[in-house]
Amino acid sequence: MNQLQIVVEKIYKPHFDVETDEFVDKSPYSPYERRCIRYECRCRAGACFAGNAQFKQHIKSKTHKDFITFYKKYYKEADDALVTCRDLLAEKELLLRKNEKLVEDNRVLLEIIKEHDEEFQECI
Ligand SMILES: [Zn+2]
Repeated sequence: MNQLQIVVEKIYKPHFDVETDEFVDKSPYSPYERRCIRYECRCRAGACFAGNAQFKQHIKSKTHKDFITFYKKYYKEADDALVTCRDLLAEKELLLRKNEKLVEDNRVLLEIIKEHDEEFQECI
């Protein structure tokens, strides 16, 4: 029986080992995960895996081993930049909302000042 399978792809990122200061392979799946999402690996165009068995097979290739060895040199900066970009976009969104509220507060306060000014003028 054919099952409709939703293919979700994520980019595989190796784990950073703080003790060795190196990037190492670490399976993104839990041991008995059943609905494994598909990961694309940047070691080679089109390289991907889904599930622990395919992951273990994939990380044995020389291309992948070289990718891990040079990961810090070629990819870490780009990954960090992406995280920084996301953080900055989130911060920008918050600041835009805050600015919108301040503009509205300012408009209300200017109306109040105008009303009081008119009352003041009438008193003179
Ligand atoms: Zn790979």
